[in-house]
This record gives sequence, C-alpha cells and structure tokens, in this order.
Amino acid sequence: MAEIEFKSVAKSFDKVGVIAGLDLRVQDGEFIVFVGPSGCGKSTALRMIAGLEETTAGDIQIGGRSVTGLAPSDRNVAMVFQSYALYPHMTVAGNIGFPLKMAGRPAAEIALRVKEAADVLDLGPYLGRRPAQLSGGQRQRVALGRAIVRHPDVFLFDEPLSNLDADLRVSMRGEIMRLRERIRATMIYVTHDQTEAMTMGDRIAVFAPLKDGHGRNLMQVGRPEELYERPANLFVARFLGSPK
Ligand code: ADP
Ligand code: MG
Repeated sequence: MAEIEFKSVAKSFDKVGVIAGLDLRVQDGEFIVFVGPSGCGKSTALRMIAGLEETTAGDIQIGGRSVTGLAPSDRNVAMVFQSYALYPHMTVAGNIGFPLKMAGRPAAEIALRVKEAADVLDLGPYLGRRPAQLSGGQRQRVALGRAIVRHPDVFLFDEPLSNLDADLRVSMRGEIMRLRERIRATMIYVTHDQTEAMTMGDRIAVFAPLKDGHGRNLMQVGRPEELYERPANLFVARFLGSPK
C-alpha cells in the first residue's frame, strides 16, 4: 500500500513561504498530475515526498506511515527527472542495475531484476549496449529501468519530458502510460503541459504560487473533465483552457 497523504504541509525557504496549507490524498495505485506555473512549488512538493527536503510544518504519510525524518533511501520512492544522466562507460544492464549495486545487493539478484526491468521496457536486446549506441527513446527507457529496478511503491516524475523533441515526447508519454499498466505503483507526474495533464492523469491537482507567502497553493483537485467543465476559479479555467 502506498497511499500518499499531505496533511497541512507547509514549506519555507529562508522564512519565505513557498507551500502552505497543503492537504491532499493520493490513492494507492493512482496516477495524479500536478500542474501549475513555474515557481509554484511542484518540485518542492515532490522533493518532500522523496525526502530531499523536509517539511517546515505538517506531515507527509506514505502508506499510512509518517515519513518525517525518514532518510530518502528508506522511503521506497523513485524520482525521475528531466535530465537522464546515464553512465556512458556502462552497458544498459550496468546502468539499470546500478542502484541495486549501490545498495549492495548480490550479483545474481541484480541480474534477475535487471532482466525483469528490461522485459517490462522491451530493452532485452539492448542490455549489452552502451548509451551512445542507443536512440533517444531507448535511453529514456533505460532511465525508467533504473527507476523501476528497485520496485518502488511510489514514482515521482518531475517534468521528465520537457527537454525532448515533440516526437520523442509523444512516444515517451505512451511509454510511461504502458509502464503504469504493467507495474503497480502510485505515480505523481509534474508537467506544465496542459495536453499531458488532460490525457494522462486519473486526477489533476492545480497549483498556484502563494501570494506574498500566504494563502494556499492547491486551487482544485479532480478528474480532468471535472476541472475542465467546472473550474473552481479563473486561475484553473485559464490554466486548463476551459471555455469559461
Ligand atoms: P516549481 O517546480 O513549481 O517550478 P519549485 O518547487 O522548484 O517550483 O520552487 C518553488 C519556489 O521555491 C521558487 O520560488 C524557488 O525559487 C524556491 N526554492 C526551491 N528550492 C529552493 C531552495 N533549495 N532554496 C531556496 N529556494 C528554493
Ligand atoms: Mg519544478
């Protein structure tokens, strides 16, 4: 079980409020999309789940358990970023298995898990290649392989496709949706692309920046069609391109 819950979460940097009054429950196995303009705290929200930032106030729970103070490596959360830095001198198998190697897992287990991840992502034939011998799309899949190899309960995607050209973006979007069908995990996907938000999410959470460090970020949460048809305010309507 990997339900994620934000309970009255706040975050400040140098006493400047970035996130306030954040209450949100993401269901086990759900794919939720966070949208909102640059600087409104989306990455910070993900980083607090992953344990790369601590909350200033409030609590975050994963699977009903508070993760406050828990090291990132004990949270069973995988984060996928924009830039996929693969190790150029390692094979695909070496790249995918690297997190397990770092965690000190035995070689036989690593080999098994790498094969399993490669099967999920159709990378089986490429395990012996190096990143330079792969297409852009294959490299992205290797990066996904590196995220799934540890069997995380939670996947956090922070604008993973924003540096890709249009064709690759469309194919990777499909790849992530396929991954979602094949493995069971709770997924949060940050984007500022309205089409991605509307097509990928079970639900969408619309974030706005705080005003002078006050108020709250979360403007509305709901299924894409709900938000589109009944936006809570003008900010949401504008962001999703609703008629009203
Ligand atoms: P988003 O991902 O929505 O673009 P971020 O979460 O990256 O927004 O940033 C939200 C705000 O917090 C921004 O004003 C950013 O400058 C600030 N911020 C983020 N991380 C730090 C940090 N480590 N130190 C100081 N300010 C930060
Ligand atoms: Mg960001």
